Amino acid sequence: MSGFLAGGLARNYVAGSWSEGDGGGTIAIEDPGKGEHFADAAQAGETSLAQALQAARASFERGDLADMKPSDRGRLMLRVAQEIRGLATEGADILCRESGKTLSAAHEEFEEAAQYFEYYGGVADKIEGKSIPLGPDYADYTVFEPYGVSAQVVPWNFPVSIAARSLAPSMAAGNSTIIKSPELDPLALAMLGMALERADVPAGAVSILCGLGSDIGAKLVASGEIDQIVFTGSVPTGQAILHAAAETVTPSLMELGGKSAAVVFEDADIDGVLNSLKSGIFYNAGQVCSAMARVLVHRSVYEEVVARAAELANGLSVGHGLDNPDHTPVVSAQQLSRVEALTSTARQDGARVAAGGARLDRAGYFMAPTILADVDPASRVAQEEIFGPVTCITPFDTEAEAIAAANGTEFGLVAGIFTRDLARSHRVARKLRAGQVFVNEWFAGGISTPFGGVGKSGFGREKGLEALYNYVRTKNIAILLKG
Ligand code: NAD
Repeated sequence: MSGFLAGGLARNYVAGSWSEGDGGGTIAIEDPGKGEHFADAAQAGETSLAQALQAARASFERGDLADMKPSDRGRLMLRVAQEIRGLATEGADILCRESGKTLSAAHEEFEEAAQYFEYYGGVADKIEGKSIPLGPDYADYTVFEPYGVSAQVVPWNFPVSIAARSLAPSMAAGNSTIIKSPELDPLALAMLGMALERADVPAGAVSILCGLGSDIGAKLVASGEIDQIVFTGSVPTGQAILHAAAETVTPSLMELGGKSAAVVFEDADIDGVLNSLKSGIFYNAGQVCSAMARVLVHRSVYEEVVARAAELANGLSVGHGLDNPDHTPVVSAQQLSRVEALTSTARQDGARVAAGGARLDRAGYFMAPTILADVDPASRVAQEEIFGPVTCITPFDTEAEAIAAANGTEFGLVAGIFTRDLARSHRVARKLRAGQVFVNEWFAGGISTPFGGVGKSGFGREKGLEALYNYVRTKNIAILLKG
């Protein structure tokens, strides 16, 4: 292997240098499209973590980013964006092989990562406070200050774009950042270190560590040497991190799982529903926190939607991500077993398997695109996050019944409405328990639209201008002018 993976090993980017980890340990990375070993990542341990923490603090104390003229910080971020684009071809190839996703989706991740740096680079000099009138004897104003050292723990489903989603606003605000990459697919994310290095981001302002969540992930968040935690991942890990954060009273942003529902009314454009379903549950093999994991369909169009969804699932092309098929593997053997096991509970709970239902008989970790119909909203498969290419369809008769079912899980990440009735779309959108609602197009929105959860889907918002204010705190300065 050549380029970034010369020697088949990705290194850690710590304090502006490339490190082979502590003690020569490595983490083996598989190609889930083949079920074979692909490359290795140098494993960061306590020494690397200590170096990253020390360098992040020193960089922040020096004011490397925080005291940089904000417009210069913005320009630095635009250079990072440019360097990310320059790495996209090589990076997408690596990301495709380590995660199983399609080459085009991997490319989109690098493009999205570049766009995060452009978006937040553009606002680095617009983080404005306000002045508060206290009468003629006082001047009072607020300033937004960076937290200091932001610790960011990233999941494996979109490692590059999710890392950029949090790193870009963190940098724009002037924080130092330590990223803990996901152990299943850390390779392409490590390449962000090259973009930072080539753009001349000050050494230590950002470190990227590949280590085990249970080891340096847990030690990072419990270190007491960070000023903020940004976590994107599963609910149990989020809860463990919140316990650690409570001990040190560290402010935390939690972007957790989902079990999001689309509500399809009788007047919906069914072609549009099917288009949304294709990306909503089969993009990235359904390993998307905001996947269309449930579909609630008005009884008058229910059988039509079930039949067309099954036809869609059965017609998807399947293959290795490098060939850009419709359907790709899940990330690991363990994930495949989890998805299959949870899906198999559906039959016992009375659901009808309209398509798929089990793993595919081929090399790699492929779950069949699966459509479950007649799913009881209270059953396990309708309540727990599957995180695979499996959706649950349930009929409803009234708007109130649909809203109750949509809101009837412990999650609340996104929700969708399919209708031609404008008044109904506004009315139902207000009643859905979710951080964002898509009307007539699943995944409508983008980098500039706020994203985050309700309930066990977490708290705080990423994306958009709103996210910026998760990376700063307000200070009020009141000045007596007399005497
Ligand atoms: P995970 O919770 O298993 O791991 C996420 C990260 O946490 C990894 O980097 C892991 O190494 C680290 N980690 C594990 N234990 C840790 C600990 N004790 N302390 C600190 N770090 C630890 O999640 P995953 O399986 O990688 O990702 C899938 C989950 O992420 C799904 O639930 C999905 O819905 C969620 N997710 C949410 C969003 C969002 O924006 N809301 C986006 C993507 C994924």
